[in-house]
Amino acid sequence: MKETPDNAVATHDEALETIAQETPVWTPEEAEEHYHVKGWGDGYFFVRETGEVAVRPERSGPASISIYEVVRHLKEEKVPFPVLIRFQDVLRGRVQQLNHAFRDAIAELGYRNRYTAVYPIKVNQLHEVVEEVLEAGKPFGMGLECGSKAELVAALAHLEDDDTLLICNGYKDGVMLQLILSGQQLGKNIIPVLEKYDEFEHFMHLARTRKIRPRFGVRVRLTTSGAGRWADSGGDLSKFGISIPELLTLLEHLDDQNRLDAFTLLHFHLGSQIANIQTLKKAVKEIAQIYAQLRQRGVPIRYLDVGGGLGVNYEADFAGLNDGINYTLQEYANAVVHSIMEVCDAEQVEHPAIISESGRAITAHHSVLVVEALGAYRKNEIDPDFTPAKTDHALVHELHATWQWVRETPTMRPAELLEAYHDAAEKRQQADSLFSFGYLPIEQKALAERLYWSICRTINERVRKMDADWLPNELLALDEHLVDQYLCDFSVFQSILDHWAIGQRFPIMPLHRLDEPPSRRAVLVDLTCDSDGKVSRYVTANEDKRYLDVHPLREDEPYFLGFFLMGAYQDIMGDMHNLFGRVTEVHIYADDEEPGGYYIEKMIPGTTVQQMLALVQYFPNDLERRMNALIRAKVEAGVIRPRAGVRLLEQYLATFSGSTYYTPSSSL
Ligand SMILES: *Cc1c(COP(=O)(O)O)cnc(C)c1O
Repeated sequence: MKETPDNAVATHDEALETIAQETPVWTPEEAEEHYHVKGWGDGYFFVRETGEVAVRPERSGPASISIYEVVRHLKEEKVPFPVLIRFQDVLRGRVQQLNHAFRDAIAELGYRNRYTAVYPIKVNQLHEVVEEVLEAGKPFGMGLECGSKAELVAALAHLEDDDTLLICNGYKDGVMLQLILSGQQLGKNIIPVLEKYDEFEHFMHLARTRKIRPRFGVRVRLTTSGAGRWADSGGDLSKFGISIPELLTLLEHLDDQNRLDAFTLLHFHLGSQIANIQTLKKAVKEIAQIYAQLRQRGVPIRYLDVGGGLGVNYEADFAGLNDGINYTLQEYANAVVHSIMEVCDAEQVEHPAIISESGRAITAHHSVLVVEALGAYRKNEIDPDFTPAKTDHALVHELHATWQWVRETPTMRPAELLEAYHDAAEKRQQADSLFSFGYLPIEQKALAERLYWSICRTINERVRKMDADWLPNELLALDEHLVDQYLCDFSVFQSILDHWAIGQRFPIMPLHRLDEPPSRRAVLVDLTCDSDGKVSRYVTANEDKRYLDVHPLREDEPYFLGFFLMGAYQDIMGDMHNLFGRVTEVHIYADDEEPGGYYIEKMIPGTTVQQMLALVQYFPNDLERRMNALIRAKVEAGVIRPRAGVRLLEQYLATFSGSTYYTPSSSL
């Protein structure tokens, strides 16, 4: 039948109407509110009218890219998932935001020196990330910070400009100190920050032997310590830093050697993710006081380095919960500049050049891990139309009666619901005992279990709608028992190690279907055979943070979740538990001329099976030889035909170059 255009419109409208009736709508505002997008998204992420999460590459600009559209594009290109998407424009944006915040603070307050950001590469050492940061930071004279030999080797070769700062923290052996001196000999602006008194003696000795005029900084052990997860990076308990008595001894020796001019920088680091701005102000004032007094004694220190610690709002909750911070980027910059200025003005010393080592705040936002939900595991419930047969066990009949009672009495009070729950629990237990003594056939046990979960579900739905002052704990706990498990294609140990190790929360949300309310509660579990391989805390508006609200899976449509603020630390700290390797990475740039407003600049394949195996000393030739021998023996014994043997070997070898993650059959 041929349809007239009018007709087609009518059919379309009808179709829309049916859909509208079937699925209640959810607005982008509701979705953003529910997953706290405005808090952690920092203006980069939002939900479109179409229910898709999008990124604004330029925070204040009108252009945006739908992450879901990028995901579909990658699926079409058969890119293996999970995928880590880097939005290079966001990285650039963060570099600019940081530098502008300090420039504004300096201009506003009339500070008489400049600010230089250095990027601590340990936060994300990926070459493309470091290059992008340097490139975006060029107009601001951005430098680098390193904390180990390998990082120094990487960073040193990137100091194109002689003014570009390279700050070297961490414990330094002779090899590292020699390399730093060589950098200074080359005329590079490389400053080792001495962490221990012996490091000072070692460094000065090497410089004397090589007849180089050295420059160095000192990390001071402040009395102020941070608060929260990384607090031990500062304070008396810290493993880092030179104490005030040691500092005075150091100065005496330096004076004796007539080398006071070598002392160019003072440094402290309170630890990552400073939660409270007051802690920072206190530490900055403490270091500024030390600076002022040293200047007054004629030590020509030029730089005051306030370390890292500039936080990111993972939790998006200003109430001061574990993973939130109580200040903005601008407030941080104002606090640093103002606190230094106040002390210097009171002590009448020159304003020093300010350095900060902010890595987390620069990199966290730019990458999103995209994970596919492979399956949803729900508690097995009974068919709503089920009626027990005469031959079914008495317990099945009794459980069914309890279910009927609950279903047919919508007015039940909490105490009655509790009674029904106790009833069901008792009968299920009886069914279990009868089964273990051999008195209940397995099919009857299955029915009893299904009925039990259906009763729990019905009670739970009632309880969730109740607005009672008092609800029994047993009923509230049903939530936990009834929640779905969504099996997702990733490894907690590779991609969100800090969640497992220190319970850090990352924002996670569906990337699409956000015009539809998420009607299922789920815990996300990963592919590893480890009971810790799950996400146990979420960022949501729910009071109970142990679950994530998600959509029911559809048979014909993959479901994607985005893990946000992945750019800091997680990439590099991930481990190889169960031999899941690095995930595929794609780098995206915004471009108005391209469809969807972006282009994929680069794809870095994830670790293959073969690469993972080589790390634990299994090598392709040996594995092939062994497998071949196993198969040949079976061919010779007549268990399989030679041709089948060849195919088996081919199949085995083909996995070597493949992904370590789950490959959905649809992508084969
Ligand atoms: C880890 C580290 C940083 C980075 O701090 P973030 O606040 O996480 O950006 C800066 N400086 C030093 C000395 C560090 O050890």
